[in-house]
Amino acid sequence: MSFTPMIQQYLAIKAQYQDAFLFFRLGDFYEMFFEDAKKASKELEIALTSRNGGKDEYIPMCGIPYHAAKQYIKILIDKGYKIAICEQMEDPKQAKGMVRREVIQLITPGTIMEDESLQPKKNNFLAALSAFQDGSYGFAMSDLTTGETRVTLISNWDGVIQEMDANDVRELVLAPEFNGDKKEELVERLNTTFSECEKEIVPDSLKSITEGIDQEKLIRPLGRLLNYLVNTQKRSLDHLQPADVYHINEYMMIDQHSRRNLELTQTNREKKTYGSLVWLLDDVKTAMGGRRLKQWIEKPLLNQKQIEQRMDAAAALKEHLLERESLRTLLGNVYDLERLVGRVSFGNVNPREVVQLKRSLEQIPDMKQTLAELGEASLAQYEQEMDPCAEVRDLIDRAIVDDPPFSTSDGGMIKDGYNETLDQYRDASKNGKRWIAELEAKERDATGIKSLKIGYNRVFGYYIEVSRPNLKLIPEGRYERRQTLSNAERFITPELKEKERVILEAEEKRVGLEFQLFGDVRLKIKEQAARLQKLARLVSSLDVLQSFASVSDRNGYVRPNFSKERTLSIKNSRHPVIERVMRRGTFVANDFNMDKTCDLLMITGPNMGGKSTYMRQAALTSIMAQIGCFVPADQATLPIFDQIFTRIGAADDLVSGQSTFMVEMDEANYALSHATQNSLILLDEIGRGTSTYDGIAIAQAIVEYIHDHIAAKTFFSTHYHELTFLEKKLDRLRNIHVGAMEENGTVVFLHKVLDGKADKSYGIHVAKLAGLPENLIERADEILRGLEQSPEQATGSESLPVHEAAAAAEVIEEEPEQLALFAEPKREEVSSGLGKRERKVLQ
Ligand code: ADP
Repeated sequence: MSFTPMIQQYLAIKAQYQDAFLFFRLGDFYEMFFEDAKKASKELEIALTSRNGGKDEYIPMCGIPYHAAKQYIKILIDKGYKIAICEQMEDPKQAKGMVRREVIQLITPGTIMEDESLQPKKNNFLAALSAFQDGSYGFAMSDLTTGETRVTLISNWDGVIQEMDANDVRELVLAPEFNGDKKEELVERLNTTFSECEKEIVPDSLKSITEGIDQEKLIRPLGRLLNYLVNTQKRSLDHLQPADVYHINEYMMIDQHSRRNLELTQTNREKKTYGSLVWLLDDVKTAMGGRRLKQWIEKPLLNQKQIEQRMDAAAALKEHLLERESLRTLLGNVYDLERLVGRVSFGNVNPREVVQLKRSLEQIPDMKQTLAELGEASLAQYEQEMDPCAEVRDLIDRAIVDDPPFSTSDGGMIKDGYNETLDQYRDASKNGKRWIAELEAKERDATGIKSLKIGYNRVFGYYIEVSRPNLKLIPEGRYERRQTLSNAERFITPELKEKERVILEAEEKRVGLEFQLFGDVRLKIKEQAARLQKLARLVSSLDVLQSFASVSDRNGYVRPNFSKERTLSIKNSRHPVIERVMRRGTFVANDFNMDKTCDLLMITGPNMGGKSTYMRQAALTSIMAQIGCFVPADQATLPIFDQIFTRIGAADDLVSGQSTFMVEMDEANYALSHATQNSLILLDEIGRGTSTYDGIAIAQAIVEYIHDHIAAKTFFSTHYHELTFLEKKLDRLRNIHVGAMEENGTVVFLHKVLDGKADKSYGIHVAKLAGLPENLIERADEILRGLEQSPEQATGSESLPVHEAAAAAEVIEEEPEQLALFAEPKREEVSSGLGKRERKVLQ
């Protein structure tokens, strides 16, 4: 026995879409069979049934009504699946034999166009990769919803992962034979859907996208990307913008771990936007401004001129509050131009969205006017280049009613006076209806039946209705009977039916013509897609700049200066996010003073003292500066950092399956092998994942290596007090510590960063406060003195590393945890009177 013809058809189509759910149209349902059905019934929580497919065993099956498909598609897409939509290509009633069926579109996470599956403030990137012999990669990506297309060349594999991560790529297209190990690494490290496409030659219909690009290595990934889009979407992709070639070394490099650690776009633990840098800087008024902000944060600039251009504009907007407020109001009336244009081109725009496009364009002249009034050179470019696309606005204004229906199926969206034929149809239908109203009056007179009325329904069309008691008043032969109701009869006349035909025909033609006219309007707008997209780019950037101005104004940020000498000097620096989520005024500002004579800071002090906050705020301040925003401080001079590396303990290290120490070493290694003199390195408690001596040894060696071979600006926090002696050994390293003190028997963290190393006896003092036995405390003091002397001695001798010195001291193995917990500001700070302490600590 073999499968039924329909199942055979299903299997033939399914064979071409192995990695997707095949939504197989059967009448009013999309059906799934076999494994697809089992999996879909689980993922979608719908009933699994079965049907006879021609063989003994029944075939698993599940289905969803076609009109509810959207919501199910969303669920599957959110989970990273793909869906092949297979439609009936002919009317089943007219088909000879099997109904012809074809896949009309492959919907995937990287190509979805439906708003329900997209986030307004997030791009939806589909990327493609081409690998070359020399170990380099071509990387292209496109957001089908906005048409943005970019391409770059990446010299190594790490760079590929970073680029994927930085752009939050939702789907990646690879060559079918792409290297197994590498692919596995991508699967492990990124949350992306994978697809395949062999072809790398740009399709003829999309040549314009690669215009002006002649480098083979850039063309090939674009070719792969575009072929995949053509093959899967099977429709016009005209709105894809000419590919923008960029160079990754024009942007600050921030590796995947550091992006997470610094919580640029989401927080580490809860994966929420709230509490991230994007959240802090987001006071944009448009969705596309939100996407642009995220793009800027993901790619801080290196070119000082470009940075200063953004800052000039932000400064001007910060300065002029009134104009900024009016711009914000205007921006608030702008819809998602970029995605609207995408939908116009893709063919799924609805009449309401076309009106949204008009409303958005209507804001532009006033925006230009406001910018002109500002008269600031830094904003002149925006004022000059913003094109109100008046023809598009006027076209929509002439053609589309102000409050149209969502759907084009019943007409009602085209304005009177836009098209003569349409007006005639409308007149015909209106005249017909008037004629009918007149007929009603006439018949009432003629028959004397006051309650006679003319009605309409879909089945019988127009009819004359007379209630039962009045039937006898109808002259013989005047009407033809059509329908009997319990208390009335319905009639027609040949004249009435004739008018009905005229009206219905006019209605049908009207609806058809409106549909066609709407399509024409859409095509005319589509012709202007490039102009509209350029406008969208300017508006979204302006939106981000006003957001920078507003946030900086509100939070008291200053414009930083950039130092060519790698000076990092900040007065009253604050951590921008913590400051915002804390009660106002409670964040303790700190200074940074690193000129060219100081590259490394060794930070000691108690846990919870504020060490990692201080380190992170240096990184966040630099990123804010390099995206063109003002910074949380009273005064700031900053280097332009080429890269930021962090090793900051994070909760999810434990989940990844690697030991904490291995993760630490991996990240340290990454930093050491990529950092330059112009980089920023944050190392938080390096070496804590292994035994004490090991840890100290590794930590010291890392610090020395950075000092001697890299000379990057480096912050190194540690609870290995022994390491503070390095200040004497390494001339560009300085000790600092975070202050704490005792008050009424408890520890108070001052969160104040002070010069010099922390005092070691602090832990013992806390132990005493906790009430540990007196003789135990004395013994601890004794051990401590032994330890303290040895490293000091060690500094005298270049050849004796600190851990040997520590080893030479009395055994401390049972101590490190405790010392770590309650490390250690200056002895005087905790042991003398409060007044003196304050003077000491806050000096
Ligand atoms: P450490 O790295 O020394 O263990 P953290 O930097 O994690 O300490 O800071 C511990 C806590 O202290 C954090 O919850 C933070 O909110 C708070 N904190 C840190 N620095 C400051 C500061 N300058 N002002 C106010 N609170 C701070």
